[in-house]
Amino acid sequence: MGEFTLFEMLRIPTYDNEDYATTGRVTIDLEKCNGCGLCAKVCPGKALYVAGEGKDRKAHMHADFPQCMSCNDCAAICERDAIFVSVPYFFPFFFKTQGKGEFSPPRKF
Ligand code: SF4
Ligand code: SF4
Repeated sequence: MGEFTLFEMLRIPTYDNEDYATTGRVTIDLEKCNGCGLCAKVCPGKALYVAGEGKDRKAHMHADFPQCMSCNDCAAICERDAIFVSVPYFFPFFFKTQGKGEFSPPRKF
């Protein structure tokens, strides 16, 4: 740590401190969700899981600081239109937020 000044060291963010970093959140319509698990498979942050048996098998978001980066992949792959990003990630103070633009489906090749 010798390369940092005291001021810089005080500004090093703690990633899992919600005062410094707010992860994304998704809303899942449990009526529409059929528990196929595609969203959990594509989620790059491993923020989603599927639990339950039979018709009660549904997607859920991990409750404790889910590593959601609001990428919208889950919404793009869901064939039931059951999941969408309701809260975008936000890193205040320490980080500069780039313009994220509107969400859009991944490009098809
Ligand atoms: S992809 Fe859609 S239907 Fe499948 S588990 Fe996820 S939210 Fe449910
Ligand atoms: S928006 Fe992206 S990171 Fe967040 S839960 Fe969906 S797939 Fe995962």
